[in-house]
Amino acid sequence: ALDIGHDLGRVVLNARSFEREHRMVEELRALDSYKGRLIATVSHELKNPLTAIVGHLEILQDEPTDPAVSASVDAIDRGARRLARVADDLLLLAKVGDPDHPVVPRPVDLADVVADVLALQEHSLTRKGIEVVVEKPEEPVVAMAEAEEIERLVTNLVSNAGKYTPSGGRVTVCLAVEGDEAVLECTDTGLGISAEDQEQLFQEFFRSTNPLALAQPGTGLGLSIVHRIVSRHGGRTEVESRLGEGSTFRVRLPVAG
Ligand code: ADP
Repeated sequence: ALDIGHDLGRVVLNARSFEREHRMVEELRALDSYKGRLIATVSHELKNPLTAIVGHLEILQDEPTDPAVSASVDAIDRGARRLARVADDLLLLAKVGDPDHPVVPRPVDLADVVADVLALQEHSLTRKGIEVVVEKPEEPVVAMAEAEEIERLVTNLVSNAGKYTPSGGRVTVCLAVEGDEAVLECTDTGLGISAEDQEQLFQEFFRSTNPLALAQPGTGLGLSIVHRIVSRHGGRTEVESRLGEGSTFRVRLPVAG
């Protein structure tokens, strides 16, 4: 009887601690959802006045004025556009982190996405003296994904590769199917990332301490957006890099069919 009482007591204690943990998980979920809503609301509220500011700046830029004033107007314009980019990134971060809006996957031909992204970015990469190479198999590489989000992911990876690769370098985008995964790889011959920095790369607002990388403009949100997009597609993000030699970012997404 003593033993039964003892066991019962343990069962009750376990049930209580389970209940406590369950409550904590629920509270954390609610907090996370509140954080997401807060970020979305604040970025939205930032965007509206910024759109007005940029619009009025464009009017001022069209007016002939003395060089000092026009230099100030240009500086304000750059600042406002940078703020608008941060607000855009924060809105997207909130969207792709929202468990109430899961992805609606459809077959997406990754070569098409890469072509669309390069159509917008290749010119500025070549102008910087960076060679752009695409390697893909004969057969299409089709992922089950939300096209818009994959386009954003590829945009962020290619633009980082371009940003952190000095002139004379190369950016290679490579597609493949491996088992049930559609694999997209973006490799550059740029600055590379230290092992220490690699551990924090996907955290929001993380920027490397490498002064060469810090010299480039950025918000530290691009890779956290990439990581969230890949995770919510049930995929994986991998990075291989050596400081001073270059980096490879690889994403694995569920293959279609
Ligand atoms: P951002 O580029 O706006 O700073 P990201 O989240 O896209 O933010 O990247 C975080 C940091 O990771 C960057 O600040 C940079 O230091 C490093 N990084 C990202 N991509 C590369 C790359 N291809 N080569 C070297 N460093 C990179």
